[in-house]
Amino acid sequence: DDAAELEALQHADVARLLPVPGVESDKYRRGVVGVAAGSARYPGAAVLAVSGALRGGAGAVRYVGPAGDAVIARFPETLVSDLGPKRAGRVQAWVVGPGAGDDAATVAEVLAAQVPVLIDADGLRLADAGAVRARTAPTLMTPHAGEAAALLGVSREEVEGARLASVRELAGRYGAAVLLKGSTTLVAGPGGGPVRVNATGTSWLATAGSGDVLSGLVGSLLAAGLSVVDAGSAGAYVHGLAGRFAAEGAPVGAHDVADAVPGAWRDVR
Ligand code: AMP
Ligand code: MG
Repeated sequence: DDAAELEALQHADVARLLPVPGVESDKYRRGVVGVAAGSARYPGAAVLAVSGALRGGAGAVRYVGPAGDAVIARFPETLVSDLGPKRAGRVQAWVVGPGAGDDAATVAEVLAAQVPVLIDADGLRLADAGAVRARTAPTLMTPHAGEAAALLGVSREEVEGARLASVRELAGRYGAAVLLKGSTTLVAGPGGGPVRVNATGTSWLATAGSGDVLSGLVGSLLAAGLSVVDAGSAGAYVHGLAGRFAAEGAPVGAHDVADAVPGAWRDVR
């Protein structure tokens, strides 16, 4: 019975998970999140991932990649580095993949880091499975159904028809936590156990770039010290709520969802 293996995420649980800076806190203690995303073809993915990361509770966002000018133009508080991930300076969790195009070298460099890594979008296709499995720090993969299908070598319809089995299968194969996006979001841990389910979203979130916002938001929660499963499920909860607040029944763009994250966060607290 699927229902017995699913754990619905409650408002109060998420409230406890969201980081609050202590009086003695500084930006480094709050965490630095690295975003390795975007390409000449998809600079916007970098901007959107950073927009989520800035609203996710880390003390600083470090961006690495070819879209630095676009990122800075929109978010001047971003620390932009033109060195690769290896030499970028202190980062407590990485987000890699949104709009990354074919930059497999950057994905490989990020996977070699000894800190939590979130892999999304193009990063899921570019990541070497052996390198993911060999990681000792936590890993979180965030596919939508199409990306999950490609990783499993099955059709999108097969994933849609067996979402719980699919998310578990991926987590087992990669030894990673997996967040499967869709009308509900499922989060499976690397070691089995109940799968968290989030249903705060709205179908207005089915818009280009909304997943990039989620990846930044969740990456920021990882940098703040949450576990992969807690960061994934709390991030999905807040992101879904932000989508609702942004849309209120009307179409919105992904950047509107990012702008609504602080309001959703306040509502949860
Ligand atoms: P992506 O496909 O990577 O752009 O991510 C899309 C985001 O929107 C994910 O967080 C999904 O869970 C969410 N989403 C997409 N479609 C729906 C839907 N029909 N209902 C609720 N959330 C959705
Ligand atoms: Mg996506």
